Amino acid sequence: MKLVSMMRRMAAMAACLPVALAMGQDAPAAVTVIHCPSLFDSAAGKMLGPTTVVISGDKFQKVEPGTQSEPGATVIELTGATCLPGLIDDHVHLDMEFGRNAYMEAAHLNFANMVLRSTLYARRTLLAGFTTVRNVGDHDYDTVSLRDEIAAGRVIGPRIFTAGPPISTTGGHADWSNGLSMDLQGDPGPLQSIFNGPDEARKVVRLHYKEGADLIKAMPSGGVMDLGTNGSGPQMSEDEIKALVDTAHDYGMKVAVHAHGAEAIRRSVVAGVDSVEHGTFMDDEDIRLMKEHGTFYCPTVYTGQYVAEQAKKGMYPPAVTRKALEVGPQIMKTVTRAYQGGVKFAYGTDAGVYPHGQNWEDFIYLVKAGLPPAYTLQMATINAAELLGHQDELGTVSAGKYADLVAVPGNPLDDIGAMSKVSFVMKAGVVYKRDGQEVLTQ
Ligand SMILES: [Zn+2]
Repeated sequence: MKLVSMMRRMAAMAACLPVALAMGQDAPAAVTVIHCPSLFDSAAGKMLGPTTVVISGDKFQKVEPGTQSEPGATVIELTGATCLPGLIDDHVHLDMEFGRNAYMEAAHLNFANMVLRSTLYARRTLLAGFTTVRNVGDHDYDTVSLRDEIAAGRVIGPRIFTAGPPISTTGGHADWSNGLSMDLQGDPGPLQSIFNGPDEARKVVRLHYKEGADLIKAMPSGGVMDLGTNGSGPQMSEDEIKALVDTAHDYGMKVAVHAHGAEAIRRSVVAGVDSVEHGTFMDDEDIRLMKEHGTFYCPTVYTGQYVAEQAKKGMYPPAVTRKALEVGPQIMKTVTRAYQGGVKFAYGTDAGVYPHGQNWEDFIYLVKAGLPPAYTLQMATINAAELLGHQDELGTVSAGKYADLVAVPGNPLDDIGAMSKVSFVMKAGVVYKRDGQEVLTQ
């Protein structure tokens, strides 16, 4: 009965399709001209002078020096501002925000609460200037649905590429049954994103593909925020990681790994993962291997500081407190060493462990760790787009790419703090924020 009604719905939808397509063809693309007093050229890592950006529909049509006009176009003057490509955060968790009650809430919240909150977090993220995010770990594929609802224009938020739920081994960092009494644990397996052995690794990746994930996020080392005792030791064998990576790549999906310890990082890089997240205890051999393999590093540097601060205030259970105090100070030093060692960086914050909408905090801490301001802006634009595998559509203000553009007051190369004051946000040609105020689009 259920199947019959579903098929009827699909038939009705198919009947409407030609009408919808015809409507799309008839609508002329609106043209907008933006006058930028200066524009960050993310490909060259340089600031350009006055620039005219012409947008047609959801794409950039022309980018020209000087102040040009276009007949019949809507004109936006961004006086006193610096324009940048829409920002990209390659490490967020849009369906959670880790507060004092997080561990209690995990047991008591309804799934719907998490989903509803994710719409608020998505909106905050977009208004902070992040027009694209990579969601690396959710609950039951809820960010697959969030991605699709945002893409359809029914929810306001950034463009999402999502990994679905994080993949872990039994008792590992993302085994959600850790800490539950034994009679509540059940026996989570691939359907719950928990696996053991290469065969189950292949199955868990295929299940993610089937459910609509864009990429894979795996947890080959312990972590800080779970209740386990070891925050950095390996939790996947080499053949397990290799099976995950090879299968994911077969399906055109990239692999991001959460890894704190040196051995877990080494195993992951050798297996061919696309990015290492956190990388706290990365050693010189890991740095050498990451450079050799072209593995991206998403350092989540502010989260390291944030969890250490929260731990000092007694916000976490004792097991988490101990690990948080260890990780925070270490991560700044690792960022400096990895940059000096020639590792490629992409901007990834772990927003969700700290409040969404403050994704700019990492710019401040990356500069404190010694990275040039221009490089941190490249991390959040062209590099982040490359890690997504969408550098042809995102990451620079160039003709033919999605019209994602933000503006900040002043010059972020002189004062990186400007990145906390995003005053203008356009995503795919639609303005969501102007003069520092949200623009109502619905
Ligand atoms: Zn994370």
